[in-house]
Amino acid sequence: MNQIVCHQCKDKIDVWNKECQRCGFHLVLEPEQKLKARYLRTPSLGALFFTQGWALGARLYFWFILSLIPAVGIAALILCVIFGRRWSWKFGSWSSWKEFQSRMRILDVVAIFWICFLMGLYLYFRF
Ligand SMILES: [Zn+2]
Repeated sequence: MNQIVCHQCKDKIDVWNKECQRCGFHLVLEPEQKLKARYLRTPSLGALFFTQGWALGARLYFWFILSLIPAVGIAALILCVIFGRRWSWKFGSWSSWKEFQSRMRILDVVAIFWICFLMGLYLYFRF
C-alpha cells in the first residue's frame, strides 16, 4: 500500500520519497498519493505535545516504551515528531488511510487540549 515501484529500475520505493533511492528517477505521484506523501512528511503536533499518549494512539508501542525513559524520551520525542506519522502508517497495520488519518487528527486535538491543561496547571500554581 505505502510502496510503489520505480518506473525505471523496478525497485520498490516508499511513497513519501521524492525520488528512487536506487537510480534517482523522479517519481510522478498521483494527486491523491501526493497528498498522502505530504501528510506523512508533516511533523506531528500530537507527538510534540503529548509524546507518550500519541505513541500509544499511533500504535508505536516500542516508541511509547522508549518515551518513558527520561533521557531517551527526548530523542524519542524528536524522532516521533519528524518520522512518527510515517512509522505509524507503515507499522500500525491500519485498515485504511481514512482510519489512520482520523486517528492522527484525534491525537492532535487531544495533544492540544493536553498542553492547554498543563499550561493552565502551571499558571494556576504559579500565582
Ligand atoms: Zn529506480
